[in-house]
Amino acid sequence: MCNHKALCWINNKIIPANQASISVFDHGFLYGDGVFEGIRFYHNTPFRLDAHLHRLADSAQAIALTMPSSLSALEKAIVQLIHRFEGEHGYIGLIITRGKGCLGINPQNCTQPTTVIIVDSLNMVDSATRKAGVHIITAATRKLALDGLDPRIKSLNYLNHIMARMEANHAGADEALMLNAHGHIAEGTADNVFIEKNGILITPPTSDGALAGITRATIMDLAQQAGIKVCEQSIAPYDVYTAHACFLTGTGAELIPVASVDGRKLQACPSAMFHTLQDLFLQQIQKECTS
Ligand code: PMP
Repeated sequence: MCNHKALCWINNKIIPANQASISVFDHGFLYGDGVFEGIRFYHNTPFRLDAHLHRLADSAQAIALTMPSSLSALEKAIVQLIHRFEGEHGYIGLIITRGKGCLGINPQNCTQPTTVIIVDSLNMVDSATRKAGVHIITAATRKLALDGLDPRIKSLNYLNHIMARMEANHAGADEALMLNAHGHIAEGTADNVFIEKNGILITPPTSDGALAGITRATIMDLAQQAGIKVCEQSIAPYDVYTAHACFLTGTGAELIPVASVDGRKLQACPSAMFHTLQDLFLQQIQKECTS
């Protein structure tokens, strides 16, 4: 169940999230026609808000959805929402849909996009699991082909990711890796994946179907600054099975070490490199979100 403290910014007003409603004719609800972002805040300060807002604007532009407000207006709304929330750390869901229209997918009658911003707490895994590492599987449900829906668009179409996540649930696993049409690993269902091999940090390129994750970019930068070689390279399940270590990154996930993949226990969990990156990540949050 979602937190009763959750708040929602809708129609320029902040109200308890459980009192908010949108039209049944909203094409985001009917057809998944829209884009979204997930943003964390620490010490009442959003982390990498600019990057999230620009990715949202790019996603909207890519689906020919005109943003109903400026990025600075969205930023203002987010800041207000955070200050009204009971809790100094939390998670923001920012959703922009094509808006109200008629039945039928044609968006031509959707004249006013809907903006909804939700603030709540989010804990993807409990602290014991986060420490011990997650057990993950590779899902049979694949990523959509790059020439079908560009993975850089963070759209409301997550059904294949949800089905992959359900596969993990059914298998008693914590998360699933998704393969692209070529059998290369793209990402997790809501997170990016990194492996560590011979001291090198490897993550799949976005051209293999990964979202250009903001946490992924943060970790790549921090690793490089720490003198760790980082490589964007295609990886197959074999590469993960035989890796020294593996971890997941995401705004929701933050950094989560992986203990096993498809029943293969990984050599190190968490690895020394994971500890280094985790420390650097926490320091970066402190640096950017406390003033
Ligand atoms: N991949 C997918 C499919 C996601 O939904 C997310 C979460 N936004 C990520 C990766 C991680 O991206 P970020 O670090 O920007 O949250």
